[in-house]
Amino acid sequence: MIFQETKVNALKAKDIALIGLPFDAHSSFMQGPAAAPELIVEAISSDASNSFTENLTDLGQHPQIHWLGNASFPDYHGISDAIRPILAANAIPFSLGGDHSVTFPVLQAMAEKYPKLHILHFDAHADLYHELDGNPYSHACPFARIMEAGLAQNLTQVGIRTLNLHQWEQAQKFGVTLYGMGQKQPLADFHTDDPVYLSLDMDVLDPAFAPGVSHHEPGGYSTRELIEMIQGLSINLVGCDVVEYNPKRDINGLTAAVAAKLVKELLVKCLG
Ligand code: MN
Ligand code: MN
Repeated sequence: MIFQETKVNALKAKDIALIGLPFDAHSSFMQGPAAAPELIVEAISSDASNSFTENLTDLGQHPQIHWLGNASFPDYHGISDAIRPILAANAIPFSLGGDHSVTFPVLQAMAEKYPKLHILHFDAHADLYHELDGNPYSHACPFARIMEAGLAQNLTQVGIRTLNLHQWEQAQKFGVTLYGMGQKQPLADFHTDDPVYLSLDMDVLDPAFAPGVSHHEPGGYSTRELIEMIQGLSINLVGCDVVEYNPKRDINGLTAAVAAKLVKELLVKCLG
């Protein structure tokens, strides 16, 4: 295990708390992301690579980085209670796995601490449906719930390539800044002084690079393009999630390795 294994009550200010959210009951097409958290941590810890990031930060047993293990929660809405004690310790929650519906209860906790949150959201999908298949908490809906509840001041979406008219209207209604795949260097001018929550859906990548997702949507970023966008960010990152890795669709653990790489580069940004 590359990370210290820590209990939530031992966290200190500025620590980064990696926590698994094994939940995929709100997936619309197929389940699988509930099994993602341990597999991503396993891939980060794998002897196939080392513990360094590209900027030569050694994450191995890093004093600020902690693996809390999988959260347990009675139901979907209980996910907020897994995040609150992390925030109470003034630590940074970094959740792994689950389908994208987890971001709404996570943001319910985040918004209590950070009323001026800016969300930076990487995804093939806008996830702005008012409801899908009768489920307002579907993984296709979290950003509609977040924006209508006022849990974020701003939402910037990157990599979107599946808009329909309904979601376009939702984006207008909520004042979303949308960058589709046609936009070159979408984050070149991205700047905010507000605290940022970053939500990364693995399907923002082209399925050629990340086949282990439920919804294959061609025409996405390469792994390198996404890493460069992450490395180029100069933001105050106060929370993070990496969602929608589906091991049932993966090939030779390739997507787990990609998720692991992205988590490592995002941890550098959390360290500030
Ligand atoms: Mn999503
Ligand atoms: Mn998606």
